[in-house]
Amino acid sequence: MSQILSGITIRDQILSELKPRVAALSRPPGLAVVLVGHDPGSEVYVRNKIKACADLGIHSEKIAPPEDISTDELLAIVQELNARPDIDGILVQMPLPKQIDSRLILETVAADKDADGFHPTNVGHLVAGRPAPRACTPAGIMEMLRRYGIDPAGKNAVVVGRSDIVGKPMGLMLLHANATVTICHSRTSNLAKECRRADILVAAIGRPAFVTRDFIKPGAVVIDVGMNRIPNAEKGTRLIGDVDPAAMMEVSSAYTPVPGGVGPLTIAMLMTNTVELSERRQRTSV
Ligand code: NDP
Repeated sequence: MSQILSGITIRDQILSELKPRVAALSRPPGLAVVLVGHDPGSEVYVRNKIKACADLGIHSEKIAPPEDISTDELLAIVQELNARPDIDGILVQMPLPKQIDSRLILETVAADKDADGFHPTNVGHLVAGRPAPRACTPAGIMEMLRRYGIDPAGKNAVVVGRSDIVGKPMGLMLLHANATVTICHSRTSNLAKECRRADILVAAIGRPAFVTRDFIKPGAVVIDVGMNRIPNAEKGTRLIGDVDPAAMMEVSSAYTPVPGGVGPLTIAMLMTNTVELSERRQRTSV
């Protein structure tokens, strides 16, 4: 029987460990979330992030400029947040409208307030293996592997997807944990064969049930990052991962379900980054 790796259990552990750390600080950590416009998906994510802050005693602020804001106006908002002593973490919800220079905005968030771990300085720290805020989704996966006693050292890890927010940082984190890492993408030839070498297979592609039985080595650990909404006769839409759920259940030794696997960890790691940024700031300001 394949083991289910529950993101809900791990999220609850992470959040309950953060609570006393928040209570021990002389002022609550502060997270500012900038949400431009009214994308319904982004609004749900932001609402969940703000609720997670409230549950932990983190002060959060939502800044919601209009859809047609200019890059300069958004830069001014970020710079003001950079200067505020009560704000420890800043998150600019992606995607931003087309007229905005997203890269410039991400680079303008102060590296020591970068709650998402996307600032080039923090990406550099990740490459060098130095402590810094880490991209939340792959950091959550590493936390899950650790807490389930799955040690990547010496294993073949294959990551499908090379995005800046999941695939690339995931590959680096597994490398730092001493796995032998292969990163695959849309130009990889014979993807199924590459995947079948994996003791740990991470799928971060964005295509429903793309990874089928013949991609999975029997006994592999399968981490399904995908969150794809597909039409469903009863519910309107249904959430499905990047891996065929039946194949994952039957062939792997352990797997993350969708929903309830990787998803809940992302916000838990955002809270972790925010608390750590606040601890660092409050330590250095005394
Ligand atoms: P991106 O679209 O940025 O990246 C997708 C990656 O998959 C790209 O590197 C792309 O390759 C690769 N890819 C696409 N098609 C194929 C193919 N046919 N064969 C091999 N590789 C392919 O997506 P993200 O990394 O942002 O997200 C991936 C998935 O994870 C999505 O479903 C997303 O919703 C989900 N997600 C879930 C999160 C969570 O909290 N659970 C958080 C973030 C994302 P190439 O670079 O060559 O184009």
